[in-house]
Amino acid sequence: MRFATREEVELLRRHYIPGSRIVLDEMDDPYTKIPAGTQAVVTGVDDAGNILCHWDTGSSLSVAFGADRAHLVRSEEEIRVSLNWLGKRQEKATGGSCPRCGGPLASFKGHVISRRAMITVCDECGMDEAFEDAGLLPKMELERWHCVGIWEP
Ligand SMILES: [Zn+2]
Repeated sequence: MRFATREEVELLRRHYIPGSRIVLDEMDDPYTKIPAGTQAVVTGVDDAGNILCHWDTGSSLSVAFGADRAHLVRSEEEIRVSLNWLGKRQEKATGGSCPRCGGPLASFKGHVISRRAMITVCDECGMDEAFEDAGLLPKMELERWHCVGIWEP
């Protein structure tokens, strides 16, 4: 095992921004119970190149540089898992912004649950999704949602 160079740490910090979501590919730790496919929120990258994060399972084990592997959420299914995770947190929060368009949620009159995941979106996005499903609008891919990239400020 080797140590991360300063350049590699810089690169990792630019890629794994605090608030982004990652998916575990492999953890090289026999005592770990975190299964591949588990998602986490990145909280930072330390000077040794380890990705610090909070796993959805409750663990805070970091992704060890040179030993473990993870990637940012990218597929529709991975993003859907993250949206469901965000939706659960949304229940506790008040106000905030629409995860789909980034507009204010506070102004919404009723709760509009997205047709894509268990998460509240603004009235307008709820309408757009209905139009999409009716074939009147092109489908907006999940990776274009406002919350994707920085899930947690
Ligand atoms: Zn919206």
